This record gives sequence, structure tokens and C-alpha cells, in this order.
Amino acid sequence: MHGWTGKNVIIDLTDGKIIENNSDLNELRSYIGGRGLGVKLYYDLVTADIDPLSPENILIFTTGPLTGTRAPLSGRHVMVSKSPLTGTIFDSSSGGFFGKELKFASVDALIIKGAADEPVYISIQDDDIRINNANDLWGKNVRQCTDQLSGKGHVACIGRAGERLVPIANVMNDYFHACGRGGLGAVMGSKKLKAIVVKGTRKTVIADEERFEKGCKEASNLIKKGSSGLSTYGTSALLNLMNYQKILPAGNFRKNEFNNASMVSGEFIKENYDIKGHACYNCTIACKHIIKSGAFEGYEVPEYETLWSFGPDNNNSDIGSIIKVNRMCNDYGIDTISAGSTIAAYAEIMGEDVKEFTELVKKNR
Ligand code: SF4
Repeated sequence: MHGWTGKNVIIDLTDGKIIENNSDLNELRSYIGGRGLGVKLYYDLVTADIDPLSPENILIFTTGPLTGTRAPLSGRHVMVSKSPLTGTIFDSSSGGFFGKELKFASVDALIIKGAADEPVYISIQDDDIRINNANDLWGKNVRQCTDQLSGKGHVACIGRAGERLVPIANVMNDYFHACGRGGLGAVMGSKKLKAIVVKGTRKTVIADEERFEKGCKEASNLIKKGSSGLSTYGTSALLNLMNYQKILPAGNFRKNEFNNASMVSGEFIKENYDIKGHACYNCTIACKHIIKSGAFEGYEVPEYETLWSFGPDNNNSDIGSIIKVNRMCNDYGIDTISAGSTIAAYAEIMGEDVKEFTELVKKNR
């Protein structure tokens, strides 16, 4: 099989059974890509009336035919489940290295059913797939959990938010790449599944190497031409632009621009912090940025959505508080968009000054 590996792995955490089956080539072709495949599998395997946090819900990790190949930006993977936040079938995708590693381990789709009695993590080392005890990982946040498991491969895990079934909990991989939306971290927590660590050694088979290589080069050149802003600033480049166009979420979504937008913009961060680019697997854009020195050394530069949700949407122009809260959310495993927006709504409902939020963040520095 070309592009795909032809293998689905089904793990039932209730009885500990691990089954491998052949993926259906017609299905793979009809629902091309990780998202299409994940939603199709989910639709076929689950009935509409199940509770998202019950053992009847399933959690699916998928890769696509380009994942783990030389195609640019091909390190992505997709998670699909029923969301405890919306009650609908939900997909969330992430960059990083976890997706390509799943593919290297010959997994098109990893389907997780049931729920364990005690905390567990799944280890995939090519064909050696195990469910291991995770009592010593439970209660730890993302950074600690990833530190502990990363010697065995690339790690996707939940923090304490997922363990506590917070409906905006996410699943983080390799420390700061998030399947952020829809509360899929809570689904993982409901299954007592703390983490998945994966290491693979196989390459995806390409039907026509020469043509594929040519296509990859053309795609890379096109991407490079249109992505210099992303490479320089990351998605934070969008903040000033959205403010200029008056489509920036501000003041709990009641406004569309923010006077101090420039103070939480990508340009401001670049001028005031020593930052370096970071790339996901096989990505020439390197839109992720890390702060190299100073009080926030090693911290991630927040994405555009995090900047507006904790910044303008909360009438907050303290960039330090946003950098800090971004790290806190990534470590607890909480979606920054939902968290910032929820705080903005709460502040308005309670009639509270958002300063209380920034003070709280400062205290935790
Ligand atoms: S570095 Fe940015 S652009 Fe490149 S794959 Fe990762 S998220 Fe996408």
C-alpha cells in the first residue's frame, strides 16, 4: 500500500485487548486525510446517544497519506471523538512530531475504546504495543509527564485538567503542540489514559519517488514565498493586521478593535524578546517561536488566538501575563482560546475588573 500503512490498531482499555486490523483501502481513498478517516471511523463505531465521558465513547488518532513523508508540513495528526464541550463529533489537529512517529510505527488509525480502572499509558514501539501502569504519572502536568516518558519516543499526554475532566482540557504533544479544541483531553482523562508514547522506524512507501520529490520541491517553494511573516513572527503576526481590519476579538467579543493591540502583537514580542523559530516535522515555515533568554527563557511565544483571548478579549495589554498564562495552560493541558474567552465572559458577568486576572497570573510567575 502506498501512502498509508494499511494498519489500524484498536485498544480496549476496559479489558486490555489490543487488536490490529487491516484498514479498508476504499475507505482510506474515499475519506482522504486524517480528519476524513477519523470522522468516518467514529461515525461507524459509535451511536449518537452516548455520553462523551463514558467508556462507550471512543478516541481516535489518525494520520493521513502524506504524514511522515518528505511532503512539507507533514508531521500533523488528528484526534476525533465526541466532545464533552459541544456534544458533537469533534476533530482537533496538531503539528509536532507525534503524527509522523505514529506513521513510522505503521499506524493509520489508533482507536481507543473503553476505560481503564487505574491510570495507564500506551506505549507503541513499532509492533510492540503495550498498556502500562501510569499511577506515578497521574497528578503530573504535561511538562513533567513528557520529561518522564520522552526517552521512549514522542509523547501525547494530558495534564491535570484532562484528569479532572475539565471540558476545555486539551491533549499536548512534545510539550507545546496541542490538539486544543473540543475538550478531547477530558475524554482521555475519562478513560484514565494519561499518555501515549510512540516510536517507529518505518518509512511510508511512495508509489513514484521521482514525481513525489518534484511535487514536494514545488510545494516547498510556493510555501516559502508566502510565509515570511509566519517565519518571522509566528501566527502573532496576525494581531496587528486583524486590529487594523477591525476584526480583532476584544472586550469579551463586544468590540472588534483594541487601543493597545500593538503592545500584545508579534512585532512587539520580536522587538522586546530574544526569540528563535521552531519547526514541526519537515516544516520550512517554522512558525513556532521560543524565547531564548531573560525571565521567560524557554517559554513559547503565544499563538495569535492565545494573544487575543487573554489580551484584547480581556482588555489586557500586559504581554508578560499572556506569555505566562500560555505556559500555565500548556502545562495543565487547557485550551487557551476557550480559557481566555471563558475568563472574559466571567469577568463581564461578574462585573469584575480584568485586572484581577492579570494580578493572579503575576503572582504565579
Ligand atoms: S511549524 Fe507552524 S507552520 Fe510548520 S507545521 Fe508546525 S504549526 Fe504548521
